[in-house]
Parts: sequence; structure tokens; C-alpha cells
Amino acid sequence: MNRPLIGVLALQGDVREHRAAFERCGCPTISVRLPEELDRIDALALPGGESTTISRLLRVFAMEEPLRRRLERGLPTFSTCAGMIVLGKEILDGRPDQLALGALDVSLRRNGYGRQVESFEADIDIPDVGPPHFRGVFIRAPRVLSVGDGARVIARLGDDPVALVQGPHLALAFHPELSGDDRLHHLYVERVLSGSLAA
Ligand code: GLN
Repeated sequence: MNRPLIGVLALQGDVREHRAAFERCGCPTISVRLPEELDRIDALALPGGESTTISRLLRVFAMEEPLRRRLERGLPTFSTCAGMIVLGKEILDGRPDQLALGALDVSLRRNGYGRQVESFEADIDIPDVGPPHFRGVFIRAPRVLSVGDGARVIARLGDDPVALVQGPHLALAFHPELSGDDRLHHLYVERVLSGSLAA
């Protein structure tokens, strides 16, 4: 089978690191900034950054409606931190005009672990990727307050969900592209995405 083409939303954030990680998983990648690029890809990665800025740029680049339509038609996503916020259903402490595209059935609080100076790293146990622990880099991370029935939490920090799978979507509150560990990108390509593309 052809490897899926992964688009990385390239409005802001760690685009190069995500592209490199997916390419090490054997997938071709492109940077996505234009609506027509959305039509070419099999899955979209939404990096971290600043969710209010990503929201604004999605509008500036006339991407909001095309992205909504592609998500409604089942576009698989891999999202981290701000990317996860943009895909969430309910955002607390967000700006009133920021996007909550609703592809992920989650309610979350922006900067739920504090400000930039309170950013931290933690070892996360993710049974789906097996040992050793995954080093989670949390930078002004969202705190997931609740997840709907359709989402499966695959890792927690204390009681908080920090990684979840919902249908063709994998969402992470932390930054896997910054820990030099591709296991979550692999998990996405080999299990989440391959399952949804075969379905
Ligand atoms: N706090 C940021 C936001 O609201 C997310 C931070 C990140 O992506 N590292 O978008």
C-alpha cells in the first residue's frame, strides 16, 4: 500500500520537526497553507504554537471553511497542544473569537497548567507505545477537563488525560516532536491512521 501523504499545517509552530518525524516513519509530507493542499493529503498534523494565532491565520488564509468541510468528511488528524485546542469542542480561558472546530469531543482549559515559566517535562506512561516512558514536554499546555464517549484516553498525567484517540484522530497535550522520540508519530501512522484509511 502507498504510504499516506501527511500534511502539516504550516501557519505557525514546529512544522519542520513534525515533517521530519513523519518522514522517519516512512510517510511523505507536505506543508499545508492553502485550501487546495487540503484536498491532496490523507491526514493533517496540527502543531503546537498559539491557538489564538492559528485560529486567526486559518481565517486570514481562507482555510477555516475548507478545513471544516474536510473534517466533516473525515480527514484524520494528529494534533499537539495548540493544535489540539483548535480541534476541541469547548475551550475555557480562550478568546471569544478563537476557533473550536469540534472534531475532538473534548473540553479543555487553555494554559491549564500555568504560564510559560511553569512549563515542564514529565515521564508519561503510554501502554499503547510500551516502555520506556515517553518524555512529555508541556509548554503552556492545555488541560483536558473532560472527554466524550467516543474518545479513548491513552495516557494521563495524574488524573488528567494528556493523550487520546478518537476515530482517525490522535491528540496530545504535549510536544512529542521536541523529545526526539518518534513512537507517537509511529503509533499514529501504523495504528490510528492505517485503521481509519482501511475502514
Ligand atoms: N497555550 C497555547 C495556546 O493557547 C498552546 C501552547 C503550545 O502549543 N505549546 O494555544
